[in-house]
Amino acid sequence: MKKCPVSEICGACTMQGISYAKQLEIKQEKVDKLFGKLGKVEKITGADDPLHYRNKSQISFGYDEKRNVIAGNYVESTHILVPIDECQLVDSETNRIFRTVISLVRKYRISIFDENRMTGTLRHVLVRNNHDSSEIMVVLVTGGIRFNNKERFINDLVKKHPNVTAVVQNINSRRTSMILGSRNINLYGKGYITDELCGCSFKISAGSFYQINHAQTEKLYRKAIKLAGIGKKDSVLDTYCGIGTIGIIAGGSAGSVTGVELNRQAVKDAVSNAKYNKVSNISFVAEDAGRYMDGCREKYDVVIMDPPRNGSDYRFLASLAKMKPGRIVYISCNPDTQYRDVKYLLKRGYAIKHIQPFDMFPYTDHIENIVLMAKTEK
Ligand code: SAH
Repeated sequence: MKKCPVSEICGACTMQGISYAKQLEIKQEKVDKLFGKLGKVEKITGADDPLHYRNKSQISFGYDEKRNVIAGNYVESTHILVPIDECQLVDSETNRIFRTVISLVRKYRISIFDENRMTGTLRHVLVRNNHDSSEIMVVLVTGGIRFNNKERFINDLVKKHPNVTAVVQNINSRRTSMILGSRNINLYGKGYITDELCGCSFKISAGSFYQINHAQTEKLYRKAIKLAGIGKKDSVLDTYCGIGTIGIIAGGSAGSVTGVELNRQAVKDAVSNAKYNKVSNISFVAEDAGRYMDGCREKYDVVIMDPPRNGSDYRFLASLAKMKPGRIVYISCNPDTQYRDVKYLLKRGYAIKHIQPFDMFPYTDHIENIVLMAKTEK
């Protein structure tokens, strides 16, 4: 990585200046330290290319002291905006699109949203691309519905970047550090992009979760599915399933799959993704995963769980321990909370069979980790 001019203030790449080999060593050590006393930690699976991997990124808008429009990243937990010209974690086309968007905001004098007064238009712009950038979505996050000159703005944008296949306006009128609000309006295209992953195709909407490192996700999913040891008679529960990726990819080898996910838009995407990929033995439930588990009468052979950073909750884990599936595959983007949850299951009739970290987020200190657990009692 060439030295990034804003690395010290931006703060997103916490591992700037450290060789990639050393980054992997640091991450391996962290997981060894946590899980080493519970079992053997396999070697971390690193990235072939540790740069330009992010398929989703966003910039926020503000004014400098002369009221010129500026755009970039907020320094964590502050209101300081660091202008970014070229981020090395995203691909070059995404960087070019951000530059075009900033110039169009200036050209059409789009006002910037002021969170204190709750006035103005534009707050953030989010760009999502598929693995070869043949489909790109631009999400314009605004404080209200009003967006002057939006037709001309979009015309200019798609003319300059024909691979932008979807433009969505997202309305976020709350006083919040969350980027997206709940309402999306399609301004151009179908409101989603599609990406190929492990031989399947996935529809991704503006607000749905999708893993941000395509090459590493293929390695992670293949390993998780292999570890799950799914057979033709097995019923599989894919919890925290997002747009249904893991369950749909695994669907061909399973008897049946159920996906559970809280975000309704993601579940809608999951249902149409299953149809699109002709996977007919899968169904989805839009519900809190713990609540679903609590009320569940079904016995699953395999449970895959992939919760957000804060891990799973007591309700989920207690019901899981009662359900007693033969195998649990726990994928986590936060090994600390995963360790806490795994310890709980270790006391309730499970043993660890495999631990393997993956580097999904080079140049940052985030670590992804898979733990396979198997039931010890008959
Ligand atoms: N397995 C998917 C998504 C993992 S991210 C993938 O690999 O793409 C975690 C997902 O959990 C998100 O889609 C989020 O919307 C969902 N989620 C968060 N809290 C939840 C809850 N309490 N119950 C069910 N799903 C939840």
